[in-house]
Amino acid sequence: MISPTLGGGVGRYSGLHGMIGDQLLSARVVIANGSIVTASARQNPELFWALRGAGSNFGVVTEATYQVYDLTSPTITNADYAFSPNASGAIFDWMAAFGDATPAELAILLFGNYDTTKGDLSLWLNVVYAGRQSAVQPLLNSLLAEVTPYRQNISEVPWNKMLYTNFFGVVPNAEAGCAGKGTNRSVYGGALKSYEKAAWNGFVANFSDFLRANEDARGSIFFIEQFSKVKVLQIPDDETAYPWRDVTAHLLWNYGWHKDETLATIERYGKHWRDKLQAFSGFSPQEIYVNYGHGDESSEVLYGAKKLPKLRRLKQIWDPKNVFGFYDSFVKRG
Ligand SMILES: Cc1cc2nc3c(=O)[nH]c(=O)nc-3n(C[C@H](O)[C@H](O)[C@H](O)COP(=O)(O)OP(=O)(O)OC[C@H]3O[C@@H](n4cnc5c(N)ncnc54)[C@H](O)[C@@H]3O)c2cc1C
Repeated sequence: MISPTLGGGVGRYSGLHGMIGDQLLSARVVIANGSIVTASARQNPELFWALRGAGSNFGVVTEATYQVYDLTSPTITNADYAFSPNASGAIFDWMAAFGDATPAELAILLFGNYDTTKGDLSLWLNVVYAGRQSAVQPLLNSLLAEVTPYRQNISEVPWNKMLYTNFFGVVPNAEAGCAGKGTNRSVYGGALKSYEKAAWNGFVANFSDFLRANEDARGSIFFIEQFSKVKVLQIPDDETAYPWRDVTAHLLWNYGWHKDETLATIERYGKHWRDKLQAFSGFSPQEIYVNYGHGDESSEVLYGAKKLPKLRRLKQIWDPKNVFGFYDSFVKRG
């Protein structure tokens, strides 16, 4: 829980309540000189600001207090669909049509993985709606009028059963080994303001070819997470260090492989598509959620040029020797 918080924390309830980091009320932090401090709106407020978006650069959080909420709705609606890759155009059109107006209760996750039973890429679409099926069904029908899934399931479940119901109640890539023991992983991220359908169709077709051609890389997956930003945008941008409140959808490429010699292929492929799709993301300059970063991005891409001067000033105060600079420090990157 705390690591997502420190980078910002995106999730299915972002539309209703904001990011996970927005829920942090206070944190106990072991800082670089070894002492323990509290960061909150009243105590060390600038450190508190930095913790929510760039937190791993400032200390070790040992305790955190969060805002919690009354239950939004006793049940959620979970809808899962599995499609063949040629459905991608219709799916991207459907996701794009929400634009900046994804309803606060709605969370869409598109997941692409190698399906061993089909010997090809499968597209798994998971839609979670914090409310009754009757409210979300018309939105789903507009997609189903265009394209037919080869497998589907829709149900209302108690909110705390959501994670066990998603994706037909299985981890879809487990068979391919991505979630399995001993799988190496390499992560690349991206962010979308808008969808460029032709570019995405091109990626889906290419990813399908890539997985068919590279058996050892078949544990690789990609996610597109389109979580509503209704509440995220209501929180003033300068309230936290998190820089990318205007993102419509986050991308996560999670490559999985076993043999050392596959790494070079994955690194080449991962960088190529991260950079290629960035050109169609609607964002210039590039924006990447720090927790989805690969490690070679510039500080501007991960933290935003606007936030960097304040972050660098605070780093001089709280960690002048860059003790917490191993993972993604904007000091090390310069
Ligand atoms: C498959 C997958 C799905 C994901 N889904 C989501 C998602 O839905 N939403 C989301 O927001 N993120 C998501 N993430 C990203 C996730 O937020 C990061 O991977 C997270 O930072 C991992 O935390 P960790 O503690 O496991 O990793 P680590 O690599 O151990 O930690 C990540 C960074 O946080 C620092 N850190 C860890 N603990 C502390 C601490 N107590 N105090 C200070 N610094 C600390 C580490 O030093 C490091 O810099 C996902 C990642 C993957 C791989």
